[in-house]
Amino acid sequence: NNFKLLVSACLLGHPVRYDGKSKPLADLSWLKQLQQDGKLVVMCPEVMGGLNTPRAPAEYAEGKVITVQGIDVTEAFEKGADQALALCQAHQVSHALLKANSPSCGNQQIYDGTFSATLIDGEGVTARRLRENGVAVFSELQLNELQQQLNHSD
Ligand code: SF4
Repeated sequence: NNFKLLVSACLLGHPVRYDGKSKPLADLSWLKQLQQDGKLVVMCPEVMGGLNTPRAPAEYAEGKVITVQGIDVTEAFEKGADQALALCQAHQVSHALLKANSPSCGNQQIYDGTFSATLIDGEGVTARRLRENGVAVFSELQLNELQQQLNHSD
């Protein structure tokens, strides 16, 4: 079982979210074991893109990422996505576990850009970049599916 898994740092308990908090999985034992086994690559694309923590919340709309104050932070989000992909390539990462609904990490749904807590189908900037480059992207809502795939990978 030779896989490497890229994981959103906030899911592992790192306080890197826009609000300065984390969002750890309810049960971290599986990730901690993978980390001990040297199988995890932990990152936060928004931090790698140069954004501060805490930072203004941002949402994706019409091809751009805009903060709640109206600042265009697309460039930092793109840079973070580039860095996440570079990490995947450097470590031969096949799978990623990314935080659901984030404008960077969300792989199925994101907020609609109106800051009204409205989810729509779509991908965050990093999730899309990784998927388009052959990384199998999962969220914490798809943990069972991810674990099954990894158990069958060689
Ligand atoms: Fe977590 Fe991704 Fe947001 Fe960083 S960018 S805090 S890893 S969801």
